[in-house]
Amino acid sequence: MPKGNFPIEKFKNLNTPFYYYDTTLLRETLEVAQSEASKYGYHIHYAIKANANKKLLDIIKQAGIGLDCVSGGELKAGIEVGFSPDRIMFAGVGKTDDEINIALDNNIGCFNVESVQELEIINSLAIAKGKTANIALRANPNVDAHTHAKITTGTYEDKFGINIELLPEAIKTVRLFKNIKLVGLHFHIGSQITDISTFEDLCVCINELQDELEASGEATVQHINIGGGLAINYEHPNHLPVPDFETYFRVFNKHLKLRKGQHLHCEPGRALVAQSGTLITRVLYVKKGITKQFAVVDAGFSDLIRPAMYDAYHRIENITSEDTPDVYDVVGPICESSDVFGKERKLNCTKRGDLIAIRSAGAYGESMASQYNLRPLPKSYMSEEF
Ligand SMILES: *Cc1c(COP(=O)(O)O)cnc(C)c1O
Repeated sequence: MPKGNFPIEKFKNLNTPFYYYDTTLLRETLEVAQSEASKYGYHIHYAIKANANKKLLDIIKQAGIGLDCVSGGELKAGIEVGFSPDRIMFAGVGKTDDEINIALDNNIGCFNVESVQELEIINSLAIAKGKTANIALRANPNVDAHTHAKITTGTYEDKFGINIELLPEAIKTVRLFKNIKLVGLHFHIGSQITDISTFEDLCVCINELQDELEASGEATVQHINIGGGLAINYEHPNHLPVPDFETYFRVFNKHLKLRKGQHLHCEPGRALVAQSGTLITRVLYVKKGITKQFAVVDAGFSDLIRPAMYDAYHRIENITSEDTPDVYDVVGPICESSDVFGKERKLNCTKRGDLIAIRSAGAYGESMASQYNLRPLPKSYMSEEF
């Protein structure tokens, strides 16, 4: 089985577990994304929640990409790294007054507003500062992203956005408030969307909404934000490690009817960073049961929670053994039965001390790490540091 390309000799001297980021692949991914988007004049804002590692953020900023934030902490991190505030968007269903004030103080580009009550609050906080806030309304279009239930966001069952049927009314409400200005419409229907036709459904939905708003005499908004959600290939990270941005943007160019002068914004998180990251962990014990064999590693779900939280699949490789493969459940040390990275995985014959690579872990890995069981947070290394 082809394995990833890792500086194994260097890894052997390092304490595990740690995240390893291939910055060459990251730069290539950013470059492809930017060049495919620029074919149509589209603007990319990276969803920082996927990975807020400062060194990665710096590379993303250098690529000329903006930022999509969902908390005051993310706003501060982005500003600290040097993203231009007017290229920062702020989304989230539960923005606190403090967070809204941080955004107002820094003159960020746009608030993506998720309820009518939030309009009122942003307006009153903006009045107190004598400012006008740019806002986009997040519509919940009732488009099913056909992805895992815990990462779908665009159906009426989800807490996100304003139901699309209620949106014309919400737009009228915006006008009641003097210190907010409607500049966009925002849509984010879910994550790890593998079926590209889902994005076509989204386009149709946006087209219908714009037609309806136009028919009722509403002015055209400056931008349409299509959110994130583009999937990556977790099964085969070595095959096409750069996601298919070409097809993704082509779908929007073909199916979405932008109005004259209207811009398209998108907010990929996972697609920009997932394949560049790998969690490297060491085998502590190999334990034989009656029906199973366990490889107990020193990383746990406190380092990478996706398998436990979303039943997510990550490819797992033994990168230091060349011996005949065998079948293992790869499990962590945490005192929870969900602390399993993969069941019945074929790995080269595994022994104590071997290094294991858990692939495609650059998104929602390090950023979701916790200190559960009072474990330390995972460290990280960039390929260019070796
Ligand atoms: C999480 C999120 C994204 C990024 O989603 P990906 O699936 O990682 O591309 C984009 N926009 C919003 C509003 C989000 O909450």
